[in-house]
Amino acid sequence: MKIGFIGLGNMGGPMAANLAKAGHEVAGFDMAKVAIDGVTLVNSGAEAAADADVVITMLPNGQILRAVANDIIPAMKPSAAFIDCSTVDVDSARAVADQAIAAGLLPVDAPVSGGIGGAAGGTLTFMAGGSAEAFAKADPLFDIMGQKAVHCGDSGAGQAAKICNNMILGVTMIATCEAFALADKLGLDRQKMFDVVSTSSGYSWTMNAYCPAPGVGPQSPADNGYQPGFASDLMLKDLRLSQQAADSANADTPMGQLAQDLYAQFVETEDGAGTDFSAMLPRFEKRDRG
Ligand code: NAD
Repeated sequence: MKIGFIGLGNMGGPMAANLAKAGHEVAGFDMAKVAIDGVTLVNSGAEAAADADVVITMLPNGQILRAVANDIIPAMKPSAAFIDCSTVDVDSARAVADQAIAAGLLPVDAPVSGGIGGAAGGTLTFMAGGSAEAFAKADPLFDIMGQKAVHCGDSGAGQAAKICNNMILGVTMIATCEAFALADKLGLDRQKMFDVVSTSSGYSWTMNAYCPAPGVGPQSPADNGYQPGFASDLMLKDLRLSQQAADSANADTPMGQLAQDLYAQFVETEDGAGTDFSAMLPRFEKRDRG
């Protein structure tokens, strides 16, 4: 297949390299100067898109996605698929999909979970929104770049699934960290806390698989000085998208709102920027009730 790939950053670069390694002809474009194994670099998004059967975008946010879409949609071949793998707001995903459908294209919003390691190893999970026809065209490429793809529904459903999942993740991480900090102050050993909670009704992915306490549970960023992993800044981005979606859908999400506010404080006015999102635990450790 001829693939145009736009946005060759930390995630897009290795994803494009995996497609090229699998034998696809990949034309890539990024505003920054990059070199990606097996990918032919071109001078604009429109040039990457012009001759492609499938165009994939992996960009920072919805505003940039909308600008890139304006540029490439008129250049694309009829019936080509337009797969956006960025994490963006649901409204931008739906607006871009409508624009693509009006131009006779097959749009899929397909944000990912799995991070930079998953992108490099080809083990991402894709959450996809779009028509059955569009999903069928994208699915063989998801197989190369990832290990699982779920067709969640119509346009926007992939982004909806992603931000709902990450809203649970942010809230649960905070709950796990504040509980550890309380346990400390109650004199409870962290290993005992893990042994009980990880097999009791407080268990969760953040406790059992990504424990924020160093030396407790499986290996996690806590064991590596809280280097990301999944950065607090990216968690804040996703929580903001969840609250933007909640506003636009008139949904009551008090815990998601509080998680957004706490990560904003941590990243923007404390020392959380650039740390893993589990570094909420040392943050709570340093604080008291006042
Ligand atoms: P990144 O900043 O490394 O990459 C984005 C790339 O887009 C950059 O190389 C930038 O130069 C390029 N770009 C920006 N505007 C452009 C334009 N107009 N035309 C062409 N290229 C342009 O970010 P990333 O970590 O690769 O993340 C990409 C997306 O994936 C984001 O939406 C992010 O939320 C999502 N995501 C990231 C992770 C992660 O762990 N990094 C995990 C899941 C999802």
